Amino acid sequence: MLNFTVGPVMSSEAVRAIGSEQVPYFRTPEFSEVMFQNERLMLQFTHAPKGSRVCFMTTSGTGSMEASVMNVLSTADKAIVVNGGSFGHRFVELLQLHQIPHHEISLEYGQPLTEEHLAPLANQGYTAFLVNMGETSTGVLYDMPMISRFCRENGLLLIVDAISTFMADPFNMETLGADVMITGSQKALACPPGISLIVLSPRALECVESHHSVSMYLDLKLALKNGERGQTPFTPAVGTLLQINQRLRDVEAAGGIESELKRMKVLSQDFRQKVAVLPFEMFTTSPQNGVTALHPEATSAYDIFTVLKDEYQIWICPNGGDLRDRVFRVGHLGALTTDDNTTLVNAMLDMQKRGLIK
Ligand SMILES: *Cc1c(COP(=O)(O)O)cnc(C)c1O
Repeated sequence: MLNFTVGPVMSSEAVRAIGSEQVPYFRTPEFSEVMFQNERLMLQFTHAPKGSRVCFMTTSGTGSMEASVMNVLSTADKAIVVNGGSFGHRFVELLQLHQIPHHEISLEYGQPLTEEHLAPLANQGYTAFLVNMGETSTGVLYDMPMISRFCRENGLLLIVDAISTFMADPFNMETLGADVMITGSQKALACPPGISLIVLSPRALECVESHHSVSMYLDLKLALKNGERGQTPFTPAVGTLLQINQRLRDVEAAGGIESELKRMKVLSQDFRQKVAVLPFEMFTTSPQNGVTALHPEATSAYDIFTVLKDEYQIWICPNGGDLRDRVFRVGHLGALTTDDNTTLVNAMLDMQKRGLIK
């Protein structure tokens, strides 16, 4: 199987080997050490400001999006939220559910965010800004330096869903002045699903401390308190946390986050160069490194996904809803190589020869 979806993605052999072992008991000093190391490496790789902390949640990425909305914000906030696809829409739904006043910037699929969207919102009493740094559903990477400037000028708390961009596109919490960064185990971390992570700046930590949480499982005060001794309040996905530890240490040993970002850039550019001979258009002018969204000119995108899966044992990522027949996505996250890109493009060329891609 060759997996070019955006998650779960292919794991390295070392990470997979841990998955075949017995899961250990975790209320031990040894497991606490693993967790301290996980927290240290996450803070290092996100360039988190001094005094930041990490919460390890046994939930999919959405659990950490919800925990962030519930614990960092309150009904006294007035948030701006970017909605350019299904993940932006999810933030909007969470703000609605938790009754947090908000203004939605609604973008066309694939459209970048620009100064024109932000300018009318300056000096309007907003307190927070929520954005999916990469809108994985369309492969758009938003202009984070622009968002960061706007947030600084207006004193906004910046909450970033980096679930598909952390470890794939450059992200520096300190220089961006980001307060919350959310990611998940099954995207660029290239581990099985089960864990999501929230990095909180000192300013976000103050917000968490000052708010009353109405959830037990998603209470970040509880997670932070237990984290002080390298533990979680409830039984975590222990095996996945051990795999995350392996992956983070492997990235560190291979030259750190900068090397990994370079590898991801090379991989996505290599694919885009090779696929250019096929009758597909790039769906966005501002793509993330972790995903290439393509619009086939005269073939159903969903049919391309189906044939690749059934006849070539290669998985790409279909789109749903309005984009089902218009767009498919090729993920570059996880243990993939430029040779794998060649395999995929050759399969597509073969489909073209067979008249299955027009
Ligand atoms: C994958 C993803 C999520 C979370 O999805 P889960 O299925 O809950 O893990 C959220 N936001 C973005 C941008 C994503 O890519």
